[in-house]
Amino acid sequence: MSSSTKNVLLRTAGLLAALTFASAAPAEQAATAGQRVIHKDVVILGGGASGAHAAVRLREDFGKSIVLVEKQGRLGGHVSTYIDPESGRPIDFGVQSFIDIGGAKDFFARMNVSIGTPGRIVNKARYVDFKTGEELDYVPPAAADRTAGLTKFAAAASKYESMLLPGYWNFPAGKDIPEELLMPFGDFARKYGFEAAMPTIFSVTGLGVGDITKELTMYVLQAFGAPMARAMLGQVPTFVPASHRNQDLYDNIAALLGSDVLYSTTATRVERKPGCGVEVTVRDRAGRETLIKAKRILVSIEPVGNNMAPFDLDRQERAVFAKMDYSRIYAGIVTNAALPGATSFTNFPTDAAPSNYMAFPELPFTARFDNLGGDLFRVMILGDRDTMACAAKRNAQASLDRMLQAGTVAFPEGFAGRRKLTFKAFADHGPMHVRVTADQLRAGFVQEQYALQGHRDTWYTGGAWSVQFQTILWQYNDIVIPKLLQGM
Ligand SMILES: Cc1cc2nc3c(=O)[nH]c(=O)nc-3n(C[C@H](O)[C@H](O)[C@H](O)COP(=O)(O)OP(=O)(O)OC[C@H]3O[C@@H](n4cnc5c(N)ncnc54)[C@H](O)[C@@H]3O)c2cc1C
Repeated sequence: MSSSTKNVLLRTAGLLAALTFASAAPAEQAATAGQRVIHKDVVILGGGASGAHAAVRLREDFGKSIVLVEKQGRLGGHVSTYIDPESGRPIDFGVQSFIDIGGAKDFFARMNVSIGTPGRIVNKARYVDFKTGEELDYVPPAAADRTAGLTKFAAAASKYESMLLPGYWNFPAGKDIPEELLMPFGDFARKYGFEAAMPTIFSVTGLGVGDITKELTMYVLQAFGAPMARAMLGQVPTFVPASHRNQDLYDNIAALLGSDVLYSTTATRVERKPGCGVEVTVRDRAGRETLIKAKRILVSIEPVGNNMAPFDLDRQERAVFAKMDYSRIYAGIVTNAALPGATSFTNFPTDAAPSNYMAFPELPFTARFDNLGGDLFRVMILGDRDTMACAAKRNAQASLDRMLQAGTVAFPEGFAGRRKLTFKAFADHGPMHVRVTADQLRAGFVQEQYALQGHRDTWYTGGAWSVQFQTILWQYNDIVIPKLLQGM
């Protein structure tokens, strides 16, 4: 454990939320005929960035028995590596790179993954209002202005780093919440004069919250914070596996964890029993059920929507989860003969031209089509909580259709092939960027949320409790795991 992690642990030790228990004890869940029963110290739900890392730490470093329940057939969550069948080239269209924070590089070395520098594709940039399909006469900020803006942003954002990163353990309550964190991010940008950095903040990782000028500053700082600005400014390195296949990290974790991972499996029933730990019934795609009896549960999935349906939620838990709003994010690899190679199409509203750096599309929207080499394009679609996968694909198609109607792109003369987008790959990244209103924050939402840590033997990690960056979530785990282990 690094000394900085130890310091954070010492600083936060006093903030451990009081354990409270449900008043009514459910009857003991008996294994049904044919049901496998396993006993573990910790059951972990979700094998993405935070869950897979936590599984390694709990089992390998703390000697606890674990079982990791993952709904997909692989670990890695938002990592999406597509292998181009023609060239064999791996293309990451989900997670792009890892910020060198805390023990991130050591973790890669430990998982036997050698690291390299992220690749860079240089495309011709074209700016289009995807609502009209019209190309914009948009002039992006000059590089020097953008750098100056990012520097101002990093300075302003770092004032709040200890309240937000790697989680909300030190987040103030009520009147003590700095007003700047609750102001619209557009006002924050004007106050500190970093308008020229706004298109970068938006298009790199901020776009998940939609129009960043209207979102609360604290949530934009979670989507693109000071660490990301430092990475963009070259002050902190980013890296990828030397193979340029991000999935390698999670495949090596999977090999290490072996049969302690249940793949293609989800929980159908989660019961917390006062003083007796948790019982989780899980079912795999073939319908086989397993009853997991564990001392603690670590939930690494976003605690929203259907994800919490199997849980025996009490009023305290329901009150927190019901307040959470969120986005839905989709990414894909598409081809279409009308999209010219070596080009990136970025969606800005018409009033962004020629140089309004505070104008952004509102959810739901298709953010961009970026050529990846050859005829492959990465497409990103951002939605609100109700935007389902088919609507996301329709949004991307409609964006292309409008570009065709406006004459921004065109099929080659005499083209007789497929006129619709062909999705070579598509990833539903599900709910992300959990957020609540300023009034709910002032009324103590964060404190209510964090009071759930340890409540009914249930602990939480992942984006909803921290930020949407892989390596910062690993730092978050370094705090939450020792708390989870207390009294075990
Ligand atoms: C397109 C995209 C690009 C990104 N790029 C970067 C980047 O370049 N660098 C970076 O640091 N971060 C990046 N991020 C953000 C980063 O990947 C996330 O912050 C991080 O993965 C969140 O970790 P998590 O553990 O909370 O969720 P996830 O990594 O999503 O893990 C959740 C896991 O739970 C599983 N699951 C979901 N529901 C259930 C269920 N009911 N039962 C069982 N399992 C379930 C999922 O399949 C998944 O494996 C990107 C995110 C997206 C969407």
